Amino acid sequence: MRILFFGPNGSGKGTQGSIVKDKYNIPHIESGAIFRENISKGTEIGKKAKEYIDRGDLVPDEITIPMILGRLQADDCANGWLLDGFPRSKEQAVKLDEALKEANMALDVVIEMILDRQIAKNRIMGRRLCENDNNHPNNIFIDAIKPDGDKCRVCGGALSARSDDQDEDAIDKRHNIYYDTDTGTLASAYYFKAIAEKDGSLKYVTLNGEPSVPEVTEELVGKLG
Ligand SMILES: [Zn+2]
Repeated sequence: MRILFFGPNGSGKGTQGSIVKDKYNIPHIESGAIFRENISKGTEIGKKAKEYIDRGDLVPDEITIPMILGRLQADDCANGWLLDGFPRSKEQAVKLDEALKEANMALDVVIEMILDRQIAKNRIMGRRLCENDNNHPNNIFIDAIKPDGDKCRVCGGALSARSDDQDEDAIDKRHNIYYDTDTGTLASAYYFKAIAEKDGSLKYVTLNGEPSVPEVTEELVGKLG
């Protein structure tokens, strides 16, 4: 199964992606990790990408698309893959679609996790880390995992917030790109939605990102089959 996974920061997309990975035995590929891998291994394409990154410029699609395609053709992708974090613009969606077709890797499913922008932002800003265990979920804006006063709901440990999670400007910047339905990430998701509606060559699945993690997983698995 070849899957593209869309969802805003704060939607729990990463968590659901890793569940899909285990259930369908396909790698969960994050576009950022592909860049880091190519750069750390010093591949030709990684070197080119690094020049742009070092200058603070966006890496052009002519470099990004072949880099991603290369990862999707690796040995561990025999059963398919789940790509997360790309495309981010409508232009990239068109180019990725073309490249996948040329490589004979038709997309099977596109998943869009739907979550209101303000809720997504609250979820990021509401995250709290437990001093005893990073895996103890605490979020002051999610009822199911609300801390016990100012202590961890699991173990009573002291809680703190990551500074990244409190950087409202950075969150807004990422969400501006994601929620842009004209040229941004949602526009790229809708590009695939239109294909699904037009010729049914792929399945477009929407997921309500509001319920708890197990509930979202249940909906997802039910829809993927
Ligand atoms: Zn704890």
